Amino acid sequence: MSTLPACPQCNSEFTYEDGDNLVCPECAHEWPRHAAEPTDTAKVYRDSAGNVLQDGDTVTVIKDLKLKGSSGVVKMGTKVKNIRLVDADHDIDCKIDGFGAMSLKTEFVRKV
Ligand SMILES: [Zn+2]
Repeated sequence: MSTLPACPQCNSEFTYEDGDNLVCPECAHEWPRHAAEPTDTAKVYRDSAGNVLQDGDTVTVIKDLKLKGSSGVVKMGTKVKNIRLVDADHDIDCKIDGFGAMSLKTEFVRKV
């Protein structure tokens, strides 16, 4: 049997699982199961090949990327140093020589 946390309201140990919630049969308190667990949900960023990326990594661009709002193209094979991972649609913040500050997607790069 798995050990479930005691009820936070009455301290009963007879809590049981009901879907994503935990339920206390003694005081009828109901609470989300995951609130009791440590919040260890750091997002893992992976490049196109599945390598884990970290802040400060160097990557190369794996395909030509057109820049929004300009005619510039970041060429395949462009090296990008010192990336910063952000929780956004374009999840890499970086600076590229000749282009300045940019946002890229992890799926279009590969760790060097
Ligand atoms: Zn209770």
